[in-house]
Amino acid sequence: MILELKHIFKNYDQGKMSVPVLKDISLDVEKGEYLAIMGPSGSGKTTLMNIIGCLDRPTSGTYLFDGKDVLEYKDRAMSDLRLNSIGFVFQSFHLLPRQSALDNVALPLSYAGIGKKQRKAMALKALERVGLSDRVDFKPTQLSGGQKQRVAIARAIVNNPKLLLADEPTGALDSKSGSQVMDLFKSLNDEGVTVVMITHDSEIAAHAKRIVMIRDGELFIKNAPSISGEDNT
Ligand code: ADP
Ligand code: MG
Repeated sequence: MILELKHIFKNYDQGKMSVPVLKDISLDVEKGEYLAIMGPSGSGKTTLMNIIGCLDRPTSGTYLFDGKDVLEYKDRAMSDLRLNSIGFVFQSFHLLPRQSALDNVALPLSYAGIGKKQRKAMALKALERVGLSDRVDFKPTQLSGGQKQRVAIARAIVNNPKLLLADEPTGALDSKSGSQVMDLFKSLNDEGVTVVMITHDSEIAAHAKRIVMIRDGELFIKNAPSISGEDNT
């Protein structure tokens, strides 16, 4: 199991009030799964993604990532885990505007202490994997939305993370670029990458192998986990 969340609650303090945003969420995700977490705006998707991605901590509950009790980790150990084990894809790409595609993709590797030559080789390989070998020297302003998201995906996978975590990855894209991103997620998942994708869009969610619904901070699990190659009837 790559993710085990049990009885996760998250409250935000608003003045004297404590507002519950995640209410008793339990979720298991197996290695190799492709899961969509689907729900309307304001339902708590990004809050849940931040917890899964070790960017934030729940108010209560337990969370094991790859069998490790990450809530016991100090902030530094959590950021190391993020760097080494989780690739993030966001709706708005989060690319550095003045850096080339290659440098954007190589950036997490420099934080991870990998040497310059190897960084370049790994970044080139990741850009090749997303079909952008011919755009390595382009800056984000010289790329279309779909190409920017593919650069962001290359950056997310450059370190061979255990988990690819995407928050509304097609939210800023036209439908053609969106379906290219979905094709890419599928091929990455076929290669063994665990994908957790957050979306409000049922057509996008339908690309995943399993869908769970979140509504008003509560999770609704419809069917059992299915992993690549397994029958799920
Ligand atoms: P979604 O991604 O599904 O649109 P969010 O997780 O962003 O939903 O937000 C869920 C709820 O939590 C919303 O009502 C939002 O206002 C509230 N919320 C999110 N972040 C904070 C915060 N930092 N402080 C207070 N309330 C927050
Ligand atoms: Mg959100």
